Amino acid sequence: MNSCTYNIRKAHPYYQSLVNRIKSMLSMNHPIEVFEASIDNACATLYKKAFWESEKPIITYNPNFISQLHRVSPWAVVAVFAHEVAHHYNGDLHGRFLAKQNGNLINYKSHRQELNADYIAGWVLSCEGASLNQTTSLYYAIAMPDTYTHPATHKRIQAATEGWVAARRALAA
Ligand SMILES: [Zn+2]
Repeated sequence: MNSCTYNIRKAHPYYQSLVNRIKSMLSMNHPIEVFEASIDNACATLYKKAFWESEKPIITYNPNFISQLHRVSPWAVVAVFAHEVAHHYNGDLHGRFLAKQNGNLINYKSHRQELNADYIAGWVLSCEGASLNQTTSLYYAIAMPDTYTHPATHKRIQAATEGWVAARRALAA
């Protein structure tokens, strides 16, 4: 059982259309269905409704987490969904959350994937017209040190900033 899909249910259509818009900015044609679920925050995963179906890319979110974040900054919500779409864009979903191995405190592959997703989220928010402060508002709202799967906040802010700056340069060119 995948912890991203616990108590999975229909999403608010606003978040489906947000994901569709982000997807089209990245020229992704494959559908990504969005669902609410009873999870900590938000998650990109592969899911099949029945055993005979093939797995499809989906994004799940905790509606309480998202509405709290929305009160902090609507751009932080865009950043969450851009980050999750980026995991699909980068093909990160197979075998990401393996159990801790060899006593390592950091899964370096997972950290690299998170920073790559933050870079793309920064790019997407820049294209959507967000300022740098709006783009990084998510990371201040969820500030944390290094964990096994996720890098510390300052590293994620740096990755999102690099994506934001790269998009500004590309648009200016
Ligand atoms: Zn992530």
